Amino acid sequence: MRIAVLGLGAMGARMARRLLATGEDEIVVWNRTAEATRPLVEAGATAAPTPAVAAARSDLVLGMLRDDDAGRAVWLRPDTGALAAMNPGAVAIDCSTVTPSFTGELAAGCTAHGVGFLDAPVLGSRPQAEAGTLIFLAGGDPSVVRRVEPVLRRMGGAVHHMGPSGTGARMKLLVNALFAVQVAAVAEQVAALGGTDLDPARAVEVLAATPVASPAAGAAAVAMLGHTFPAAFPIDLVAKDLGYAAGSVTGRGDLPITRTAADVFQRAVEQGYGADNITGVVQLFRTAGIA
Ligand code: NAP
Repeated sequence: MRIAVLGLGAMGARMARRLLATGEDEIVVWNRTAEATRPLVEAGATAAPTPAVAAARSDLVLGMLRDDDAGRAVWLRPDTGALAAMNPGAVAIDCSTVTPSFTGELAAGCTAHGVGFLDAPVLGSRPQAEAGTLIFLAGGDPSVVRRVEPVLRRMGGAVHHMGPSGTGARMKLLVNALFAVQVAAVAEQVAALGGTDLDPARAVEVLAATPVASPAAGAAAVAMLGHTFPAAFPIDLVAKDLGYAAGSVTGRGDLPITRTAADVFQRAVEQGYGADNITGVVQLFRTAGIA
């Protein structure tokens, strides 16, 4: 099989590397900033000059791009975009975290062009992408899911089929919203410990061991005791995902708790913490004088 990977950021590069390491397929890569293709070419991939050239050579085209705007540019541009160049019967998979409405646009374009489509965003971050243990949330035709599942399983430990096109994107935003709401709440509490006679390390240790704390919240609280927040899931992307979730996840208007968390992470971006990991949001509460 010939597989194209479009978007070689932190996640896409690791996913392309897994595909190279786990099979005999021909892997074609493209990235807006061409420099990112070099290490993958050294590992055996072929670089393409545009998404269209990558797609024309491929049976399966996988996108791992920042957001709706990036997806629109890479998939749908009439001159260099991937979709117009795809071969009939090929399959497009968008693994990016994007809105259900952009997913609908892309799905309709794929149907009109005669190619299969799945939205298949992932749970898990850089370590999971590296280890091939991502969790795929797939939306689309079950026959397309069955066809591409062996490829997805080389990058992930599970492929959950959620329903028709767009349901993968929607589910991903729901999960990220739940995660980020918890992290924001924990950040507020960890920062608040600084103004009390509780020992922060002891308080977090006990909090994390209670049935009240989810595993994600407990791990986040422990990470917040440190003073550096090297990015795995950077605050920039969290803010983007929460903005999408608050606005578009239900189709029935705003979600107030998700909106509050979205505002918190947006403020963290504005204060210069965008490149830090999600747990670095604790700095916002510390500098706000809570601790
Ligand atoms: P990243 O490192 O910031 O990479 C973003 C990718 O999108 C890069 O290849 C970038 O190209 C490309 N891009 C951005 N704007 C573009 C545009 N206008 N036109 C063309 N390409 C553009 O992000 P990532 O961590 O790999 O995340 C990729 C996707 O997966 C996002 O939707 C993210 O929300 C989602 N995700 C991330 C994580 C995580 O923990 N990091 C986990 C699950 C899902 P350049 O290299 O040229 O900038």
